[in-house]
Formats: sequence, structure tokens, C-alpha cells
Amino acid sequence: MELLHTIADLRNHLDVHRRVGKSIGFVPTMGALHEGHLSLIAASKAQNDLTVCSIFVNPIQFNNPADLARYPRTLEADCAMLAAAGCDVVFAPTAEEMYPTASVLKFDFGFLERVMEGAFRPGHFNGVGIVVSKLFNIVQPHRTYFGQKDLQQVAIVRQMMQDLSFPIEFYACATLREADGLAMSSRNRNLTPDERPLAAHLYKSLMQAKEQLVEGASSEQVKVKAKQYFEAIPAITLEYFEVVDAHTLEAVEGWQDENRTAICVAAYLGKVRLIDNVVF
Ligand code: AMP
Repeated sequence: MELLHTIADLRNHLDVHRRVGKSIGFVPTMGALHEGHLSLIAASKAQNDLTVCSIFVNPIQFNNPADLARYPRTLEADCAMLAAAGCDVVFAPTAEEMYPTASVLKFDFGFLERVMEGAFRPGHFNGVGIVVSKLFNIVQPHRTYFGQKDLQQVAIVRQMMQDLSFPIEFYACATLREADGLAMSSRNRNLTPDERPLAAHLYKSLMQAKEQLVEGASSEQVKVKAKQYFEAIPAITLEYFEVVDAHTLEAVEGWQDENRTAICVAAYLGKVRLIDNVVF
């Protein structure tokens, strides 16, 4: 496995493979890898000759400096996991390499970024749009793999790829979970031993809501119940609980066969902000 830190080195390395017709799969990450990330690597390996994983904690997508400072950085352990998973190339640039001067481009994803994560994290999706489009141009993969865990990111990257005609096949992969249902996340390692079992309540609240919707409850009823659910757990502060169309992110009134309904939640557990969703 190659570990490369500069754009020039990565381009030179990939050019050699591209010239002989090898297909390239790309998995962008911020590191602190877990099995969820490795499932994306596996999906890429199954479809491509070469798999590239980027590890870059993108400063411009953090609206909260404390969150950026706390974000775990574990490059050595990440590389060991990626090598064992059969990843071919790791691209781990510095912030200076990615942003030699501050980026001035501004993305506006319209409604897609006004709700949920976009509403609570101003500027977040502009930072995501910039880094993902830069990485796409740097790696120039044939296929790319993202996690459904970041449902709004999937919707926004899909829209951006369509708007900018990126010639890349996009795959959204299922969320990997711990045994108690907690969605795997790099942020989970910042949970204290007391907080960790409570984190499973996010998934439990989603499953409860899904059951209610399938039984015919309205989204409003489901949201009221979810609020009550979290009010009973003082350690958790709910940010939002939404029932939306998985593609347009528009609120839906309840579950219908014709839409791809997603239930999305974000909450603070101590200092750690967690998000999760189920799509059905
Ligand atoms: P991150 O390093 O958190 O930016 O995540 C990198 C990629 O891994 C994103 O496409 C995420 O959606 C995806 N990902 C994160 N957690 C999981 C998970 N539990 N299961 C599957 N994919 C995930």
C-alpha cells in the first residue's frame, strides 16, 4: 500500500495505473477509521482494480473550532487497518497542501442545505462541497463510495456531481452498526464509558419512529413521541428529529409507499454530537 501526502505524488502514481486501463475506486474519509469505513473500501475493491482512500480532516467543514480540535487523528492505526483491508493507495494531505491559499468558492445547495445538518452547522456543506470536488479532481476516480450514515451529505454530493457533470459513478453504502445499534462513527471514541451505552438511544428512537410510521402514525405524532423519548434521558440533548424524503430531504407527512422515507436524528451526548438515520 502506498501512503502519499502530495497532490503531485498522487497524480503521478495514479496516472501510471490509469494509462494501462485500470479502474479506480475512491473512498474519501476523515480518518479515525472503523468497520464502517472498511465496508466502503470492500465495496470499492469489489468493483475496481485500484482503491484509493483519502484521510483528511477538512478544516473548512467544521463550524465549531472545538469540534475540529477534538476530532480524532490516528493516521498510523488507520494505515494499518487499510493495508489489512487491501486498500492500494492512501492519500493523506496536509491542510496547506489542500488549501495553499484560502478557498473563496461558495457552494449554495439551496433547500438541501437549509435543513437538518445545514441548519445546525452553517457553512458545513460548503466545506464538504469544496473538499469533495477538489478530491474528485485530484483522484479522478471511476467510482466513489459514500456512507448512507451521512444521508444529507449523500443528497448534496449527488446533486453537486449532477450539476458539475463529474464523470464518476456514485454509490451510497449501508450504515454499519455496533451490536446495540449505535451507528459506527469516528466520534464514538470521544464518548465516556458512562455515555457509550446511552448512545444506543439514537438508534432505538429511530426504530420506534419507524414502527409508528409503518403503523400509520403521522410524522408530527412521531416527532412529538421522539421529543418525549429524549426528554426522559437528561444526558442527551436532541437537536432535530425529522421525517423526510431521502432524496429531496423535504418533510413528508407520514410513510407512503411512493417515497423513500428517511428518519433522521442529531443529538448531543455530553460534548459529542451524534447523527443517525434509517431509510425505508
Ligand atoms: P467520515 O470519515 O466520518 O467523514 O466518513 C467517511 C465516509 O464513511 C463517509 O462517506 C461516511 O458516510 C462513511 N461512514 C461513516 N460512518 C459509517 C458507518 N457506520 N457505516 C458506513 N459508512 C460510514
